[in-house]
Amino acid sequence: MKVIIVGGGIGGLATAVAFHQRGWQVEVLERAAEFTEVGAGLTIQPNGLRALDALGLGERLRAGGLADPLAGIRSRRGDWLIRNDVANLKRRFGSWVTVHRAALVDLLRAAVPAEALRPGTDVQHVQPDGVVHHSDGASTADLVVGADGVHSVTRRSLWPDLPGPRYVGYTTWRLIAPPHPVEGSVETWGRGERFGHVPMPDGRIYCYLMANAPAGSRVGLDELRERFARWHRPIPALLDSAHEEAVLQHDTHELPMLPTYVSGNVAVLGDAAHAMTPNLGQGACQALEDAVTLAHTVDTLGLHAGLHAYDRARRPRTQLIVRRSRQAGAAAHWASTSLTTLRDAVLPLLPNRFFDRSLTPAYTWTI
Ligand SMILES: Cc1cc2nc3c(=O)[nH]c(=O)nc-3n(C[C@H](O)[C@H](O)[C@H](O)COP(=O)(O)OP(=O)(O)OC[C@H]3O[C@@H](n4cnc5c(N)ncnc54)[C@H](O)[C@@H]3O)c2cc1C
Repeated sequence: MKVIIVGGGIGGLATAVAFHQRGWQVEVLERAAEFTEVGAGLTIQPNGLRALDALGLGERLRAGGLADPLAGIRSRRGDWLIRNDVANLKRRFGSWVTVHRAALVDLLRAAVPAEALRPGTDVQHVQPDGVVHHSDGASTADLVVGADGVHSVTRRSLWPDLPGPRYVGYTTWRLIAPPHPVEGSVETWGRGERFGHVPMPDGRIYCYLMANAPAGSRVGLDELRERFARWHRPIPALLDSAHEEAVLQHDTHELPMLPTYVSGNVAVLGDAAHAMTPNLGQGACQALEDAVTLAHTVDTLGLHAGLHAYDRARRPRTQLIVRRSRQAGAAAHWASTSLTTLRDAVLPLLPNRFFDRSLTPAYTWTI
């Protein structure tokens, strides 16, 4: 049996590993000239690590250094709005890892035979019968998996009339700052703006910033330094030590709910199926779960029963996480002074179990 995978990001490569391990012939078509990810950090949470365990790769990622879950959320003055019990989260759910994105892509790519990888291949159209049209001609397989990200050509080929991704109103900057002492992983909320920092195993600090902005607006590091100059320590110092060329900016999109993730001999997964806001840090974790589940259902139940089992297992779960992720970030982007003042007064009074409810379904997944 042969599977063609459109897109060689985290979801596509994980799918390739999962099917290769089950003895399928695998072909990964990737538009970019090489299989890699641009420079930013990524946190793989306990459920994502469990999916990597199913591929036999979880321990290798953990061996690079464990991370802590989010210690909490602070106001721009530094007061704690939410404080998580980090030790308790780890005891209940397992380990967290923060890596450079390229490290995860390298780990997955190394588990796929080199001859299965076709970089520089731009897919133009996918047919439900398993024919894929691309820049080098056409290829056919028993199964095609669209793992081609938020602006997926596979999804548009199968469902041309469905609405595309929606800009959620805030843009994101990511950068990796030089080593600096920080108090674990922390997010800080202002008015329509927030800043997060996550220590990486090599001591460098992965930082993300988000701000309400019209789609397509671009802001450089100097303006970011000015905007966050009066926020609590170590935020100004982290921005001062960063380099302009290390800053990546992307608008944040969410995909409206698809009515199905399969059509004929084709399935979509990862951001192609359920691109979500990054508020819960679950996008890549869900792509890993998708990959492992799809290979399991198709390989054990046969192609068509397996595809439908994949859709039944994955769609409700991922769409719940898309909604939870949107809700988790909403209050961070309130722009009115009265609302944010109320938010900052109320959040510290809420019991931890209030926040637990949005985290537990994400972290407890097993295949
Ligand atoms: C700011 C931010 C922070 C995040 N933090 C986290 C986090 O901490 N933890 C987490 O789990 N998730 C996080 N995410 C989400 C995560 O990055 C994505 O969900 C994940 O990378 C999706 O992987 P994917 O393989 O589905 O898609 P992508 O990574 O988009 O990969 C798609 C691939 O398909 C290729 N492609 C596209 N079109 C074509 C075509 N026509 N032909 C051939 N190839 C094509 C692309 O070149 C690309 O390589 C974050 C996202 C953002 C924006």
